[in-house]
Amino acid sequence: MLILLVEDHRPLAESVAAYLEAAGMQVDFAANGLSALHFAVTQHYDAIILDIGLPGMDGLEVCRKLRQESRSATPIIMLTARDQLDDRLAGFDAGADDYLVKPFAMPELEARLNAIIRRSSGDAFKVRYEVGDLVLDSATFSVTRASRQIRLSRKQFEILRLLMRESPRIVSRETVERALWGDELPDSDALRSHVYNLRKLVDKGFATELIETLPGTGFRLRPPA
Ligand code: CA
Repeated sequence: MLILLVEDHRPLAESVAAYLEAAGMQVDFAANGLSALHFAVTQHYDAIILDIGLPGMDGLEVCRKLRQESRSATPIIMLTARDQLDDRLAGFDAGADDYLVKPFAMPELEARLNAIIRRSSGDAFKVRYEVGDLVLDSATFSVTRASRQIRLSRKQFEILRLLMRESPRIVSRETVERALWGDELPDSDALRSHVYNLRKLVDKGFATELIETLPGTGFRLRPPA
């Protein structure tokens, strides 16, 4: 479970991170809106904890940009110091999934976090992705291209699901590796050979190549024009 924590108040950020890490989650940390956006678009997170009161771009704007410009569906829980209905409504309006008022108890944050992650992964599990003539169904673990069945290994399936979910956005090499192996990365050629084989299975024999490698950056599933 990888969480992005966006909070400019260092002591609070540290205690939240320590609590969540003790609960078995991995936590990345951003102290302002710009770096939060950077993290959130270059890495896949299971959830984002987003403080509203940030220097410069505030949490509401970060949330809005993630939803509208980056078309991110990552579950977001907003934090605010003020128990005001205005903030709560503005948070939901900006696309937040839940809302927590400071000061809060850590177990409550953990419980809410788990709830929004469960909700979103429940949805993700049911989701059927379509890009061009390529169709992936998570529920039946099946992939077809132009109605022809494609047999994939578990790892190939995970890579393709990630690329289809994010398409047409670029998915960084790090995001794919972390999704496949967590922190225990194999040697650097493992991903390359999975993608090579995946591309053979998905693209070979078709006029349009959907899987694109961006050297030094990552991968993308490009929808046909
Ligand atoms: Ca703050």
